[in-house]
Amino acid sequence: MEIIDNKFMSKYIPVIGMEVHVELKTKSKMFCDSKNGMGLETEPNVNICPVCTGQPGTLPVANRQAIEFVQKAGLALNCTIRKQSKFDRKNYFYPDLPKGYQISQYDQPFCENGKLDVAGKTIGITRIHLEEDTGKLVHPKNVDYSLVDFNRAGVPLMELVTEPDIETGAEARLFCQKLQQICRYLGISDADMEKGNMRCEANISLYREGEEKLSGTKVEVKNINSFKFVEKAIDVEIKRQTAVLEEGKKVVQETRGWDEGKGDTVSQRVKESAHDYRYFPEPDIPPLRFTDDYIENLRRSLPELPDQKEKRFMEEYGLSRENTDVITSDKSLAEYFEEVVSEIKEKMKCGEVIGDEAKCLKLSANYMVSELQKHLIKNDHKIEEIKITPENYAELIGFIADGKINSSAAQTVLEEMYHTGGDPSQIIEARGLIQVSDEGVLGSIVDEVISKNQKSAEDYKAGKQNALQFLMGQVMKESKGKANPQMVIEMLKKKLS
Ligand SMILES: [Zn+2]
Repeated sequence: MEIIDNKFMSKYIPVIGMEVHVELKTKSKMFCDSKNGMGLETEPNVNICPVCTGQPGTLPVANRQAIEFVQKAGLALNCTIRKQSKFDRKNYFYPDLPKGYQISQYDQPFCENGKLDVAGKTIGITRIHLEEDTGKLVHPKNVDYSLVDFNRAGVPLMELVTEPDIETGAEARLFCQKLQQICRYLGISDADMEKGNMRCEANISLYREGEEKLSGTKVEVKNINSFKFVEKAIDVEIKRQTAVLEEGKKVVQETRGWDEGKGDTVSQRVKESAHDYRYFPEPDIPPLRFTDDYIENLRRSLPELPDQKEKRFMEEYGLSRENTDVITSDKSLAEYFEEVVSEIKEKMKCGEVIGDEAKCLKLSANYMVSELQKHLIKNDHKIEEIKITPENYAELIGFIADGKINSSAAQTVLEEMYHTGGDPSQIIEARGLIQVSDEGVLGSIVDEVISKNQKSAEDYKAGKQNALQFLMGQVMKESKGKANPQMVIEMLKKKLS
């Protein structure tokens, strides 16, 4: 017999804090005017200069746009923006760091004490600061040397540190996803994990129920390159630490890397003592001061953020939460939807669409979330690349709302519009998809179907609802998908009662 030990399940509680780096989409690098190619250049060492390669005698100049981007992120995440701030040198040696130090921020980060609500839980944000990214080392196979590429050196890098408020891998994933969404809404970064624009690290410890929350030994997990793996790496690490503690052993303080192939975290570096980076104020950049007016202006310049947009879409357009979630998950999709809405309103004003507005908006959302998303995913397209103009999309919705075409025809038309960018009225005409609502025509098809399918007709009369669906399907088939489904259902029910 198996004994489930409940104590085992609740004995240790995970404490997780995230450290997220986001490369900012500025025009130039952090401390020079080299082009910011986000480290995605195809040739090595093309966007470099004496400053970002650390030549003697060069001087850094702070990038104003990068500072604004970080402060915007801070405002969007409910942080306090420091009125006085400075840059500091973080000293360490590594071949991808040409100066032998990184310009970062130590005790005066631009933003402090923020929070982000994720799935009904508030996650505290300790700080957000700005620093420069490092170069990249390249290790060619079968040779005894490595190469260094400085394209990424000096790219503005935002670092965000959360409070240890997270308890599961899923919460951490949701936090990172929402952070990505906010960065994209603000236009400060694409925050694409696969491209390395966004890098998430987790600090994980466990504490025994009843003991101090931060009494466990902290393990840092790195090398996570997708949202899926944020969740997986954390959950796997929690299991690993639980097993260590269950065996009565101690968790070693170390840095572990997520190994996708093994589906496990592996030890990379054991921390014997805290690093001494000998931080000191960057002498080549004077301290920075920001006025209340400056901060208020920045606050006013923020775009509508995901939570606000979601709330407004539900209130203003009467959309369901599920549809709103999908549409506002991508700022461009939300903008596309709003363009469609204004086209629909326009068409109603001039009498081109006669149906009910609320119904049209719901249909627009439904077709966007189901059909349009389906084509976008299947073809790996972004909404920006779509050939269907908002006007044509609105026209199609009008045809559906006004009963000119039925839903199966609408799917066919939408698919063709998706691939050709064609006009819906022309497609409907060319394919002869106008919905048949003529009682005489439909009546004769219904009669024919009933006489050919006597058994199903009897089944329905005996109470089998499925039989009605079958007969309905036969009528749609006979009419080549053009029959008005509501009329067909009513006729079938009437004739079989
Ligand atoms: Zn440069």
